[in-house]
Amino acid sequence: MKIVMLGAPGAGKGTQAKQIADQYGIPHISTGDIFRANIKEGTELGKKAKSYMDAGGLVPDELVMDLVVDRIGKEDCANGFVLDGFPRTIPQAEALSAALNKKNEKLDFAIDIDVSDERIVKRMSGRRACVNCGATYHVVTIPTKKEGICDRCGSETVLRDDDKPETVQKRLAVYHEQTQPLIDYYKNKGILKTVDGTQPMEKVFSDITAVLGA
Ligand code: AMP
Repeated sequence: MKIVMLGAPGAGKGTQAKQIADQYGIPHISTGDIFRANIKEGTELGKKAKSYMDAGGLVPDELVMDLVVDRIGKEDCANGFVLDGFPRTIPQAEALSAALNKKNEKLDFAIDIDVSDERIVKRMSGRRACVNCGATYHVVTIPTKKEGICDRCGSETVLRDDDKPETVQKRLAVYHEQTQPLIDYYKNKGILKTVDGTQPMEKVFSDITAVLGA
């Protein structure tokens, strides 16, 4: 099963993508996670990506396309994958399609998790991420057991720079301009499925599994 997740930043793509990956035994590939890991390790890619990410913009297509094409060519993607945060532009979607075409493969589903901008801003200001392991929480909906401390590894949890309100507004503008056109792109390909992302997380997931036919 080859799936891409669509939706504004903060719509819940990551949470749902992880669950889909567990349920179907396919890798969860998050380009945001890959960039954050590179930043943490101080790689060249991380250094290049950081300035764009901190400003709420997109990392240039050429820095992300080869990375994803390589990743989905790995052995563990033989039965599929769930891409979270990629594609984010039409050229990225075209690059993905071309890479799959070469192998006589194609995407099965593009799942759009639909949430209004207003809700996104509210949600993201409450998001917290662990500085060490990257686990994500929310002060209201998924709080840590001890305030400000990661349940998983005991490190500090913080509001990520790219989740700060002014950056979120910028990210939403970027989303509408560059990523939203993918909704029509995948609708035209006949693989778009939209789920209501304002429902409780479990209900969003059961709607997704219904769409995927599980
Ligand atoms: P995410 O965790 O998916 O919200 O990604 C965090 C940030 O990483 C985004 O705001 C972008 O700056 C960058 N990023 C992640 N994926 C992509 C992509 N496919 N294309 C361009 N930039 C990306």
